Amino acid sequence: FRHGQASEVVVNTPDGDVVFSENHPLVVVAGPCSVENETMIVETAKRVKAAGAKFLRGGAYKPRTSPYAFQGHGESALELLATAREASGLGIITEVMDAGDLEKIAAVADVIQVGARNMQNFSLLKQVGAQSKPVLLKRGMAATIEDWLMAAEYILAAGNPNVILCERGIRTFDRQYTRNTLDLSVVPVLRKLTHLPIMIDPSHGVGWSEFVPAMAMAAIAAGTDSLMIEVHPNPAKALSDGPQSLTPDRFDQLMSELAVIGKAV
Ligand code: PEP
Ligand code: MN
Repeated sequence: FRHGQASEVVVNTPDGDVVFSENHPLVVVAGPCSVENETMIVETAKRVKAAGAKFLRGGAYKPRTSPYAFQGHGESALELLATAREASGLGIITEVMDAGDLEKIAAVADVIQVGARNMQNFSLLKQVGAQSKPVLLKRGMAATIEDWLMAAEYILAAGNPNVILCERGIRTFDRQYTRNTLDLSVVPVLRKLTHLPIMIDPSHGVGWSEFVPAMAMAAIAAGTDSLMIEVHPNPAKALSDGPQSLTPDRFDQLMSELAVIGKAV
């Protein structure tokens, strides 16, 4: 790969710099799939912050399979993320689907997420590469590691060196018991192939909250730099991805379990 020397991504958050790197503490990103209303996003932010998370995640623009499913609250959700950022001190990670929204997303987000379905949207990659906020690049559900790294290369080549790679599961033939197959083998493989920091998202990886903690711990054992965990105050009522979302109580418990595995949180 032509671009890249830095082995860490430093993100400025309201509470100070957070470093994604092999040589730094594990960074945990937590929050709901979608920003639903002010109470839930602020409450979730405070709970995950108290448990040790450094970033709040939450979708304003959602890539849904069905056009009739909840699409996210868009611009008003960005305002709620700004409120939650202020209230909690957490950094914000949220997804961009349309380059036309990039500027207003970058005004609120500390890290801009490119989702699995847009991993090879080369025009979007060039545009997130041409702005200065760090980018979280999720692996496409049928992307090879080469496809994924070349997608990252588009962002680097456009001038933005701050890319974090997030494995979120690849298409599985099961679908009955797991939503995707979480490919944890990417952790040592990426470590060999690239300097870019690594994130594992076991929530989208397995699709069911009861299986998330085991895979979060496995990801740390494999050597991940960071984790993304979906947390919702009332998963049964979530507007998206409720079945894979942990309650704040279960997330608290997971954070203390993670501390035992190794890399300090
Ligand atoms: C998400 O993070 O909520 C999301 C839609 O992720 P992915 O792009 O991995 O499906
Ligand atoms: Mn989700």
